[in-house]
Amino acid sequence: MNFDFTDEQKMLKEMICKFSEKEIAPWVEEMDREEKFVEKIWEKASALGVLGMGVPAEYGGMLTDYLSFGLLGEEVGRVDAGVATVFGAHGLLCANNIARNGTEEQKKKYLPSLAGGAKKGCMGLTEPSAGSDALSIKTRARKVGGEYILNGTKMFISNAPIADVAVIYATTDPAMGSKGLCTFIVEKDFPGYKAGRKLSKMGLRSSPTGEIIMEDCRVPEENLLGGIEGKGIEQIFSGLDVERFIWSCCAIGIAQAAFEASLKYAKERDQFGQPIFNFQMIKDKLATMLVSIETARLLTYKGLTSWDRKNFEQTRMLAAQAKFYACEVATKVTSEAVQIYGGYGYMKEFPVERYMRDAKVFPIGAGTTEIQKLIIAAYL
Ligand SMILES: Cc1cc2nc3c(=O)[nH]c(=O)nc-3n(C[C@H](O)[C@H](O)[C@H](O)COP(=O)(O)OP(=O)(O)OC[C@H]3O[C@@H](n4cnc5c(N)ncnc54)[C@H](O)[C@@H]3O)c2cc1C
Repeated sequence: MNFDFTDEQKMLKEMICKFSEKEIAPWVEEMDREEKFVEKIWEKASALGVLGMGVPAEYGGMLTDYLSFGLLGEEVGRVDAGVATVFGAHGLLCANNIARNGTEEQKKKYLPSLAGGAKKGCMGLTEPSAGSDALSIKTRARKVGGEYILNGTKMFISNAPIADVAVIYATTDPAMGSKGLCTFIVEKDFPGYKAGRKLSKMGLRSSPTGEIIMEDCRVPEENLLGGIEGKGIEQIFSGLDVERFIWSCCAIGIAQAAFEASLKYAKERDQFGQPIFNFQMIKDKLATMLVSIETARLLTYKGLTSWDRKNFEQTRMLAAQAKFYACEVATKVTSEAVQIYGGYGYMKEFPVERYMRDAKVFPIGAGTTEIQKLIIAAYL
């Protein structure tokens, strides 16, 4: 086993760390307060090339390996998990999905503008009545002549309010169950496509989340992802593990930020004539936080390394373990951070209350903790 990053990964991590501190950090409070994503961040990210981290170089991106994508999630997540979600929904759920599953024509048509940031992407699987039970989606696709007509509503979709291109899952025949699932590349200007309500959230407020409404939405047949009907189930599963690893990396990023803030505060805050760091119960919290973050990181990096080595028999189980563990760690560590800050931790003027609100979504999105435990138990 080799636990070292390559020189390229080290450089990338440092570059994204500097980028996040310089270009994202100044906007964090405003984005959280006003529940908006700042377009300038997108422009700067586009100039740096990181919007194309899920796209191979031949289509204008800079995909090298998925551990590197994870480092993007972690470093951006350390500063603002909402921005990490914007990048992930675009670069992984949309662009990387097309890169993995699209036909050559689809890749040539969509990937360069997504990789360069001229277009923003999202992915719509979840529906108002189909969340954990994702394969029960009702969005219907009917073939009429040279088009598919889509009808249905997608719910909780990251980037829906700002996306130009959506990867949409639908069924051609509900009676066929998962065999009827198909995936479509849908542009926001296709007739019948509408970004619905923008949803207001507890945390992750820089990440715009919303509905997608399709009413007789006309999609040209060449936009059936991969060009073959019935591939939806394969396409969903082809990206699920890596999505869970990268989501876990964002969670680790928030936990790391909460730990660093807590350690600094514990050494600065005096009570009973000494820094609160000196109290054994505070030391216990900090030690537990540090070890749980490092454990989550090792598990997640192991999963990403397996994915990069195409060791796919291992990755479903590892993804469930990493997703379950890292996301629970993020909620526990951020909650402990608020506790270490005491009353100040509950106030908006310190960042830890935002970390705690942001962290709460991690055990929910990309498959809940309960579902990850079911996957692990199925292996057992
Ligand atoms: C901020 C945010 C962003 C999101 N972004 C996207 C996106 O970009 N694209 C997208 O398609 N989706 C997205 N989602 C949706 C997300 O994937 C779902 O919320 C998630 O899969 C859970 O589905 P649900 O919310 O319908 O909860 P439900 O499935 O209704 O679950 C409710 C509760 O029941 C539990 N439960 C369900 N089934 C079982 C079971 N069999 N055994 C035990 N417990 C069970 C769950 O664990 C949970 O605790 C996003 C969600 C959020 C909150």
